[in-house]
Amino acid sequence: MNEEEIIRQIDAYIQSAETPDDMRALARSQNALPIYLDMGGCIALRTGGTFIFHPWDTQEFNRDVNPAWQIIALVHGSGKYPSLTSLLPTRNAGDLDCQFCKGTGHFVMGSKTYDRILCGKCFGLGWTNSYLESLKP
Ligand SMILES: [Zn+2]
Repeated sequence: MNEEEIIRQIDAYIQSAETPDDMRALARSQNALPIYLDMGGCIALRTGGTFIFHPWDTQEFNRDVNPAWQIIALVHGSGKYPSLTSLLPTRNAGDLDCQFCKGTGHFVMGSKTYDRILCGKCFGLGWTNSYLESLKP
């Protein structure tokens, strides 16, 4: 997703009748596209390719989103905005399939793959390398 498309998608998000009022206000005031929402808050992509984290029920917009969460937000958001995958780390020769999710990027237990839950070991990428390993807490 390039700069022009980020701007276009933020605008479309603000215009959409499906966007809740509080999220529309967030997108407008922060110039940001919400791409990941969970119980704790929302991660949004800003123009310039930076990220903000907004904890619910606060006025905080934290610009220091750690790289692991940036990847998780991009993987999650690419379900709705496929071109976000262009902002993900690139897999290189020598990078390995994630052994925990068998390369699926989704949580696996036994023979079942949970498509709605991202693998926490590879941030949903399905592969890993020394850089990604270094991001783990
Ligand atoms: Zn994995």
